[in-house]
Amino acid sequence: MSPARPLDPALAPLPPLPESLRVAYDAERFRADGHRLIDWLADELGRAHGRDDAPVLPWREPAAAQADWPVPPGAGDDDADGDADGELLAVLRRAAAGSIRLHHPRYLGHQVPPPLPGAALADLMAALLNNGMAVYEMGPTATPMELSVVRWMAARLGMPAGAGGVLTSGGSLGNLTALLAARQARAGFDAWADGDRGGPPLAVLCSKTAHYSVARAAHVMGWGDGGAVAVDVDARYRLRPDALDAAHARATADGRRVIAVVASAGATGTGAYDPLAEIAAWCEARGVWLHVDGAHGAAAALSPRHRHLVAGIERADSVVWDAHKMMAMPALITAVIFRDERRSFEAFAQEASYLFAAGQATDDRGAAHAEWFNLGLRTLECTKRSLSVMVYGVLAAHGPGLWRDYVERCFALGAALAARLDAADDFELVVPPDANIVVWRWRPPGAPPPGPALDALQAAVRRRVVERGRYYLLQVTLPVGVVMRSALMNPLTDDRDLDGVLDEIRAAGAGLVAAGGPG
Ligand SMILES: *Cc1c(COP(=O)(O)O)cnc(C)c1O
Repeated sequence: MSPARPLDPALAPLPPLPESLRVAYDAERFRADGHRLIDWLADELGRAHGRDDAPVLPWREPAAAQADWPVPPGAGDDDADGDADGELLAVLRRAAAGSIRLHHPRYLGHQVPPPLPGAALADLMAALLNNGMAVYEMGPTATPMELSVVRWMAARLGMPAGAGGVLTSGGSLGNLTALLAARQARAGFDAWADGDRGGPPLAVLCSKTAHYSVARAAHVMGWGDGGAVAVDVDARYRLRPDALDAAHARATADGRRVIAVVASAGATGTGAYDPLAEIAAWCEARGVWLHVDGAHGAAAALSPRHRHLVAGIERADSVVWDAHKMMAMPALITAVIFRDERRSFEAFAQEASYLFAAGQATDDRGAAHAEWFNLGLRTLECTKRSLSVMVYGVLAAHGPGLWRDYVERCFALGAALAARLDAADDFELVVPPDANIVVWRWRPPGAPPPGPALDALQAAVRRRVVERGRYYLLQVTLPVGVVMRSALMNPLTDDRDLDGVLDEIRAAGAGLVAAGGPG
């Protein structure tokens, strides 16, 4: 079809391809740079594994780091000659040298793993191919891989056929996605269409130690401060099922309808697993949705030795499981799993009814069939990275045994660190760990009793350890006060490192106590 007035090609001549773009997209240049980059990254990996060859975190004060990384000088010059040869690699090298090294066996910090190098290669491919996934045609392999990966994860949790879901960008977004579906399923009114005018204010029950993203999701959904009702925990920071009635009664007295319980399978702070089977029984008796936040710990299902920790998870209506935690994937890859996969359409209130009517939606050849594969209907993201490629690739190449070994190794490291802390006179293990997150305090002779001074001592000694760069660990505040927190995420960590971190604390803290304590 021509427009009414034909366009004269001479009036819109296509200029020649700018040299900058020709060079930037050149395949041979990519090949050469890529080989150099991989060679150099392999060396970097070796340096991290070498322990003393590189610091875990090359500490810089934030302001100094900012001064190191101003807006690049060339950024003001539109005519600067694109990538002067090697400049990209030079910048990447400098960035890597200053980065925290998760592959360092003395990284004992956050719940972020040293990614499997093979998964990083898959990620590189995903970045280059950039299959955006919102609709099937933009991810013609990533889409079926995603559906298969999530169905496999659901089956590993013990869920029935028909369970499945989608991948999304992180546990925080995953919790929101699952709770949006819970709201639509259990509010008793159409919360998507009618908003908060459709019925009474809603609430979820969760432990006091649930990840903050649960309360944040409640706020995002407009439920205000009372939207996430805290349930008491026991001495090991696990949700107490016998406290659910009281929390429910409080919410009801507040005029709210409780639509869901959020249980933690591996709480962020302590790694504690809530008793899922008892919580599931409570939810089933009341028709309340059970969402399990297994961002950290659902992967226990991959280990025969630790599966008991998640007994009952198969009864959950929805589960969030981060592959970028205990499956050693690069961030962010989160599965949002529904016991009935069709529920996943309800998060964003798509008209799922015709899919439900179709029964076996994946066998239907009509419109419902096509919509089933357009994953953007079920995620907050429109464009999304091909997250499935990394997980599918590792699963196909190694089988689930690699993840079983990873989980069991990391949990064993947690137990081994805990045993050392428990045996040492000058350390206190705060709670016996369920998993690979250990919380503990340094209490050398002469240290102040629990209270602000002991809290300050923990903060001061941790700061020194981090600045020294040989180890990396965290501090968190629990009801007992400020404690050290170590997530054992690196399977290459060994006995030397676990003994070493205690000695490192003693060495770094020398003088802090003798001098009468910090401050
Ligand atoms: C890490 C974590 C989250 C948040 O996940 P992100 O992927 O960091 O957004 C949520 N819940 C629990 C229990 C977690 O450990």
